[in-house]
Amino acid sequence: MAGETIHGHRFFIGFGGKGANQCVQAARMGAKTAMVCKVGRDVFGNYYIQNFKNNGISTAYVEQTENAATGAASIIVNDTGENAIVIVAGANMLLGQEELQRALTAIVNAKVLVCQMARENHVKTIFNPAPAIADLCSDFYKASDVFCCNESEAELLTGLSVTSVEDASQVGLELLNKGCGSVIVTLGPQGCVVCQSTNMAPKHIPTTAVTAADATGAGDSFIGALAFYMAHYPTMPLEEMARRANLVAAMSVQTVGTQTSFPFQKDLPTELF
Ligand code: ATP
Repeated sequence: MAGETIHGHRFFIGFGGKGANQCVQAARMGAKTAMVCKVGRDVFGNYYIQNFKNNGISTAYVEQTENAATGAASIIVNDTGENAIVIVAGANMLLGQEELQRALTAIVNAKVLVCQMARENHVKTIFNPAPAIADLCSDFYKASDVFCCNESEAELLTGLSVTSVEDASQVGLELLNKGCGSVIVTLGPQGCVVCQSTNMAPKHIPTTAVTAADATGAGDSFIGALAFYMAHYPTMPLEEMARRANLVAAMSVQTVGTQTSFPFQKDLPTELF
């Protein structure tokens, strides 16, 4: 409540940001990765960069600024697991055209770009509309080779409710009609639905549901794994990539934490490679 001071039980700092999480998962599976982002010239920024290095991610395009603090989120979780989150985007908001221009060579030479744009350079793009906004500009759909969202993002983007595989198939087609190359709607323990063409029925890719110790970051683990498969196995059918990404993400939900729960190549069955 406003004005109240209470005691908590435990405090810890973890690394995040959806883009960073997705990059870490792809790197841990063996992908050559680079992050394009901006952090503050502060202690969090220094740790943040070190964390990328520890995960083998290139930081050549991670810039530090004096003009804002490193982006951070305070997440307060109560004893029943409910949370309250305050996000301060900070230095993220200062990433602009100039920085992207400096990273352009790396972007155009990449096999997969996770976010948006760069399609004209034949780089495959995965766009993850998180946090979703209802009136997403049509360019984002058109620039996405694979548009990947979860149930709540799909609901916000289409105005349709998503509570079943059938609903996900319906919204997948709706999103596909907005101009994306393909659409994947993730469904937690039910796996995901893949839509590739309006002439083809959407395909449910089920998974083996596991008891989640902490599902935070499951979507990021899925997208990171998908990026890995798109970069390393470009001719693999998207449905097979989604089946494998389901299994990687299922492993991530069985351990507490976000990046801390993301598996390395050595932790995964060899048939996933
Ligand atoms: P978050 O916001 O927590 O990162 P999300 O809502 O974006 O997650 P989900 O759709 O919940 O993403 O999960 C992404 C993927 O993770 C699913 O498609 C599935 O492959 C896997 N997954 C999530 N929960 C489970 C579970 N309990 N059992 C097996 N797989 C799971």
